[in-house]
Amino acid sequence: MDAAALHEQLIRLSNHYGSQVEHARAGGGNASVKHDGVLHIKPSGTTLAALRDEDLVPLRIDVLLEALASDAPVEGDPVMAAASAARIGEPGGRRPSVEILFHALMPEALVLHLHPLVANAVTCNRHGRRLAEKLFADDVVWVDYIDPGVPLARGIAAARREHEERTGRPAPAITLLGNHGIIVAGDSYDEVAERIDHLTRTISDAIEAAPTSRSAPAALTVDVEAVANALREATGAEAVASASDDFVRSNAVLGAGPVCHGPLIPDQIVYAGSLPAHLPDDASGVAATVERFRSEHGRAPVTCVVPGQAVFAVGASQKAARNALDTFLDALRVARDADRLGEVRVMDERERHFIENWEAEAYRQSVAAES
Ligand SMILES: [Zn+2]
Repeated sequence: MDAAALHEQLIRLSNHYGSQVEHARAGGGNASVKHDGVLHIKPSGTTLAALRDEDLVPLRIDVLLEALASDAPVEGDPVMAAASAARIGEPGGRRPSVEILFHALMPEALVLHLHPLVANAVTCNRHGRRLAEKLFADDVVWVDYIDPGVPLARGIAAARREHEERTGRPAPAITLLGNHGIIVAGDSYDEVAERIDHLTRTISDAIEAAPTSRSAPAALTVDVEAVANALREATGAEAVASASDDFVRSNAVLGAGPVCHGPLIPDQIVYAGSLPAHLPDDASGVAATVERFRSEHGRAPVTCVVPGQAVFAVGASQKAARNALDTFLDALRVARDADRLGEVRVMDERERHFIENWEAEAYRQSVAAES
């Protein structure tokens, strides 16, 4: 296949999967195409859904692989140092994604990285490795959660090597990343799409077949509008989004992973905050709860939960509030399905502090806020 056809297929894949919230939310996920020794990758701050060929940032693959193998100290963020060393042409305004390095590892021409809700029921699971083995045998590579950037890319490289030594075959084109998402590679649109669809279908069938102990949702007793107004006032936010449907009343309960124990994936921290504030079921207590959260965390909450009743998210715009809310609802769904397959694993405190303090994520957040 020639370069133009490869680019066209990558953009089509990105737009197709990127526009389904099941597979990628907001600026999440990533995509690349490689040919003639050059990796062309989605920049930070654009979405897969809207990705165009002219957005792609060209980087030399040999320079990226060298940076990955080298222990030489670099100035600033090592991923960005590698990116600027590998960069072809003028930097312009675009900054390549923080997830560039692992794309260079895959021999296939097209690479799509997603945070899919179905697959994350396996990746955000204490028994993820075992589940992956049971469902896919040696057809996927499993990688435990690792901090993004250079450590993650090195962990993926090591897992691929281990897989090749153990099986005597080239590493498979599907990688499952613990508490993060999937990487699927292929040499054509159809190859990548078939792999994603097979992965999704297999896990979805396993979730459907797993026993469930769903109890009926509690009746809605909270005045959602009054709480939303109190929250807007207490946080000073421009916009508040809320949900209180059957799904929320069944799953946004005390004991649920995202409600009480922590975020499932890094993007949840970026868009919805690490942990929600627990609001009382009466609007008059909202201001004091927000104040307490502020003094404990140094900032107002992004998401708030009235357990068993409603979820709220605040934002600088209706779009930002809605995106934070949807990201949190995604986490509730992933946690529910992970519990059906085994037991949800949330990011631990060290893992989440790394993301909270990560300069590159802060950059992405600021870009996402502008868009
Ligand atoms: Zn990712």
